[in-house]
Amino acid sequence: MTTKRLLFIFQKNATEKPVMSYLVRDYNLEVNIYRAMITPAEEGYLVVDVTGSDEDIRRGMDYAKGLGVTVNDREKGLSWNEELCTGCGNCLSHCPTGALKIADPATRRITFEEQLCVECLNCIPNCPYGACSSIFRE
Ligand code: SF4
Ligand code: SF4
Repeated sequence: MTTKRLLFIFQKNATEKPVMSYLVRDYNLEVNIYRAMITPAEEGYLVVDVTGSDEDIRRGMDYAKGLGVTVNDREKGLSWNEELCTGCGNCLSHCPTGALKIADPATRRITFEEQLCVECLNCIPNCPYGACSSIFRE
């Protein structure tokens, strides 16, 4: 069994489809919705932990994509803008997983490791320069 954290992006005409229910019923997947948002333009964003066999996950994601849903396993909710990052280090003690860390102690250059990010969003209010942002928080 594998668990993957995935970002689902539903365009307006796909938000009413019970995609998650079908993933459970027809593809033997467990789904745990971690974050959800529908914009005023009726686009839907879900961060979901999907658990199942690799084959069932692949089939389930093919099904979702066939409905026009974008499934993204790299970018999730959090964006880090390297150009805005001053290397102040304020976020580091607020990031529970070390996704934001010092890459080079000599220059104090910061890096963001997407795979480690658990979307806690702690870094957003703790970045004085607006380098961290999320589709789930204005
Ligand atoms: S959202 Fe949380 S885990 Fe991800 S980079 Fe920010 S503080 Fe770290
Ligand atoms: S708080 Fe913001 S500007 Fe400071 S190191 Fe973290 S991401 Fe960069």
